[in-house]
Amino acid sequence: MILTTLRQIVLDVNAAEDLDEILTMIVTRVKAALEVDVCSIYLNLPGSKRLTLMASEGLNPEAVRRVSLDLDEGLVGLVAVRAEPVNLSDASTHKRYKFIPETGEDRYHAFLGVPVLHRRRVLGVLVVQQAESREFEEEHVSFLLTLAVQLASAINSAEISVELKQKNRSPLQKDIFINGSPGAPGVGIGKAMVFFPATDLESVPDREATSPDEEIESFRNACEKVRQDMLTLKERMHELLPTEDRVLFDAYVLMLGSDSLVNGVTELIRQGHWAPGALRMTILDHARQFDAMEDGYLRERGADIRDLGRRLLDYLLEENSKRRDIPPNTIMVGREISAAQLAEVPVNRIAGLVCTTGTASSHVAILARALGIPAVMGASDFPVKNIDQKNLIVDGYMGRVYLQPSYAIRVEFERLASEEKALTEQLVAEAAKPAKTIDGVKIPVMVNSGLMAELVSSHTMMIDGIGLYRTEVPFMVRDQFPGESEQTEIYTEILRAFPNQPVTLRTLDIGGDKALSYFPIEEANPFLGYRGIRISLDHPEIFLTQLRAMLIANQTTGNLNILFPMISSLHELDEALALLERAKQELLEENILTPTPKVGAMIEVPSAVHLTRVLAERVDYLSVGTNDLVQYLLAVDRNNASVSELYDEYHPAVLSALEMIVEGARKAGKPVTICGEMASNPASALLLIGCGIDSLSVSMASLPRIKWVIRSFSREQARQLFRQARSFTDPNQIQALAEEALTDAGLGALVRAGMH
Ligand code: PEP
Ligand code: MG
Repeated sequence: MILTTLRQIVLDVNAAEDLDEILTMIVTRVKAALEVDVCSIYLNLPGSKRLTLMASEGLNPEAVRRVSLDLDEGLVGLVAVRAEPVNLSDASTHKRYKFIPETGEDRYHAFLGVPVLHRRRVLGVLVVQQAESREFEEEHVSFLLTLAVQLASAINSAEISVELKQKNRSPLQKDIFINGSPGAPGVGIGKAMVFFPATDLESVPDREATSPDEEIESFRNACEKVRQDMLTLKERMHELLPTEDRVLFDAYVLMLGSDSLVNGVTELIRQGHWAPGALRMTILDHARQFDAMEDGYLRERGADIRDLGRRLLDYLLEENSKRRDIPPNTIMVGREISAAQLAEVPVNRIAGLVCTTGTASSHVAILARALGIPAVMGASDFPVKNIDQKNLIVDGYMGRVYLQPSYAIRVEFERLASEEKALTEQLVAEAAKPAKTIDGVKIPVMVNSGLMAELVSSHTMMIDGIGLYRTEVPFMVRDQFPGESEQTEIYTEILRAFPNQPVTLRTLDIGGDKALSYFPIEEANPFLGYRGIRISLDHPEIFLTQLRAMLIANQTTGNLNILFPMISSLHELDEALALLERAKQELLEENILTPTPKVGAMIEVPSAVHLTRVLAERVDYLSVGTNDLVQYLLAVDRNNASVSELYDEYHPAVLSALEMIVEGARKAGKPVTICGEMASNPASALLLIGCGIDSLSVSMASLPRIKWVIRSFSREQARQLFRQARSFTDPNQIQALAEEALTDAGLGALVRAGMH
């Protein structure tokens, strides 16, 4: 019973629209559920340095918002200082007890207080009290602790939104920023636009209606479309379901016509909310009322109304996306923005990107780096719901987002952005020079790509080819698998853009965090699941089409390199090679003669590291995908912000694996290139050169920096540095060693990430 109540309160806290509502709800419901005499919440309001009684059920109502304590005063202060529960059967006998006459609490003996903590910061204290002397049970302590966690995240987002609502902030007021992790370097200044998955009603942001009449019209259209869908579904079920079960569809139709739903939404639109926001509020409010019902059957209706809401939302957003215009200097923000969403928007209008989940190794961050869009990932406290259209500054170096920045901070960042531009220009001038070390060793630097836009011909001067073209990107922006001729066209364009240099087309690497809307994969552990070559081998119809298109595209240029992703066994490589052979044969039989491409295997799974030599013997070259290799070696999800600190390319295990790969490839007499992001970071790139790799493939945005590194060291210097790094056990020491070497060589500006 107590657990059901807890679950219900947690649901309601998540659905509530403001903090006052949450506080009142918690104190009322907790008092009833635990059958105590008092439940109160004290908060450490920002800037107050005191614990203020913000809500209470049981204490004198007059005391609410009037009574406050020093942060370490009384028993409430003791809970805050200790940051752990305090459970006393008779509070008045405790030496820290402090009687506050206004509250009328002298009648209560039993006291249980738990801290409300967010990221180590004490936001407040949740207290229950009872007249009778008793020690509260463990179950009660757990109950309050669980609620306190929910309360903490609600307070944290409320704090931020309250600050945001203060439109006329004084110039002296502190700038608010949210920390995440650096996703793509650079500074972006612009206005937020929230992107969210179409099926997620709860993540619909608040936004003002531009034209309420039009919004109402769209809502009515959506209702009509869902009504039609329901009638069609009911018809279709005619033969399969008995009449009484088909009544369910009638219930949907009835709900669609109900005054409380329709009027609720239209009224909110008239008050100025856009239709999807008004729908979210109304549906969640209705659903909550059903969720709270004791009767199991009625409780289930809460799920139905949410489903109805999602169906309406789908249609509303369809209408909306037709109207949606992306203005210049837009900052894309969202809980989870996919690489496909980024690839779909007009990139030249995007000034920055902020995700509340994900890390620098997420594909959307990699794409942002390739496009030169500053990005912050894993900013979990970022108030997505009420940020739409607000001014933001994205600091992609520090991994920070400034909300409604003051004039002063804006000027500071504009200065940084222009200094950064100057550094890049200076580097670009250098970048046309060949990538040779001081002792004359050529280390070709190619680029990673997935979009044609970045491959302008002026770059051919600077780069030694395309080291990784992620073919899944053009697949992600379509509604179905592109056919052979469509793919041939895409590949031909790339091969022709760099006719005298190698161009590496990697075969489809979907799965993990790269989903195709038309090839759904539902898995608990996508990165350990159906991914890359595993899918291609299971679907020869897709794989052969792709291989044929690549071979045909190579007809006139002859510069194609094919690369297989996610190889984890010899067997997989052999199968992939056999299918490539089959594609060649088929073309031969059709009298299409094509030059033989070079073929490579990616080393990005630990098993492949141990098989390097035998894998290398079967192909022309190896390409190391450090993004995945680090994730699999260290068992750290490359997308999970809570473990992003553990994702470390300077880990000694990573250096050891690289050494093994270089050694295995040497024995087979084959070259090794690195196409993971480790090659795009100046300090780690220096270690890679020292490790003995033959070439690098980096993001276009980092190419000038990496060339500068190559031109500033001898291979021998880099080798010594790598040897020294191998003797260290601490990743931080290894990173510091590489960064110091850059600074000593006069390349400090690269280490300080821009000019910070
Ligand atoms: C890698 O894993 O390092 C790599 C280059 O591939 P992707 O980032 O596309 O998985
Ligand atoms: Mg990979």
